[in-house]
Amino acid sequence: MKAAIFDAPHELRVGSWPTPEPGSKDVLISVNAAGICAGDLYIYSGKNPYAEYPIIGGHEVCGTVVKVGSHVHTVAPGQLVVVEPFLPCGKCYPCRVGKPNCCANLQIIGVHRPGGYAEYLLAPATNVHLVPSGVSPFRASFAEPITIGLHACQRGQVSAADYVLVLGCGPIGLAIIEVALVRGARVVATDVLDSRRNIAQRLGAETLKADEKLIENVFAQTGGEGAPVVIEATGNPAVMQSTINVVAAGGRIVIVGLVAKGVHVSLPGLEFTRKEVSIYGSRTELGCFPEALALLASDKIKYPEHASDFDLWSAPAVFAEIARNPSMVHKGVFVIH
Ligand SMILES: [Zn+2]
Ligand SMILES: [Zn+2]
Repeated sequence: MKAAIFDAPHELRVGSWPTPEPGSKDVLISVNAAGICAGDLYIYSGKNPYAEYPIIGGHEVCGTVVKVGSHVHTVAPGQLVVVEPFLPCGKCYPCRVGKPNCCANLQIIGVHRPGGYAEYLLAPATNVHLVPSGVSPFRASFAEPITIGLHACQRGQVSAADYVLVLGCGPIGLAIIEVALVRGARVVATDVLDSRRNIAQRLGAETLKADEKLIENVFAQTGGEGAPVVIEATGNPAVMQSTINVVAAGGRIVIVGLVAKGVHVSLPGLEFTRKEVSIYGSRTELGCFPEALALLASDKIKYPEHASDFDLWSAPAVFAEIARNPSMVHKGVFVIH
């Protein structure tokens, strides 16, 4: 089959890869759309510690079932599906206590196993979800990033009563903003870039500039109390450290952003106790695909309207261009025509 293959850092080519054959519990999918995620850019730049080259990237995938294994009865050829890319081991402590999203041996389709930047993709039937009718493959490929937003909001127990401060309006920040708005919260989003704040605003969030006055401005908006919920989606250690200063006493901090390996974040110990703050990490998602797909089938999610589509076979040029100019597109999705 034809595929876009990462051979080594900064080496991406369109070439040939063996077409996978489904085992008894697998589904073979003909790819229609596959999103470009920060994780894929890390594979391209050589910063993803889990990627073993050569690898086919792409973990935000929508496609059409072409073949199913003999034990698969949940989907049939011709149906449009999205792929839940996470494959937990089922044996480690987090798996045993019902948190397979932070499995100690987590494998990800598109990182550890061949992903969706190809004509065909193989996935276990348990990881395949039917796309509601009327949702296009392009739109359905946003299911995975929306699940990240759903899980982060679940971790922060975001409700209609909350003022939610979202730090960072990148693709994941936007997914969090949309879900928090659907939950009925008052959402205030920040970013250093005007262009990113503009998109957050178009999705329905209020915005504040991420400058030295940010904390002061949040306290002014909350009657001097601070933000009940702070969700960190920049991966910047200084921003992460600031969460404890901007959160309200008794509030929740959710950390979604990833700092580079070995980078430490320090917190003022007294504030931590005095405010009795709860700090939650949030990794991938946990059973959020059905809700993400239902949201995409509604008109509540506008995020895909701000994304760009590219032909998959132009992937080498697209990745080279994004590496040169990261703000070239806000969010990109590859499509196969
Ligand atoms: Zn992703
Ligand atoms: Zn596990």
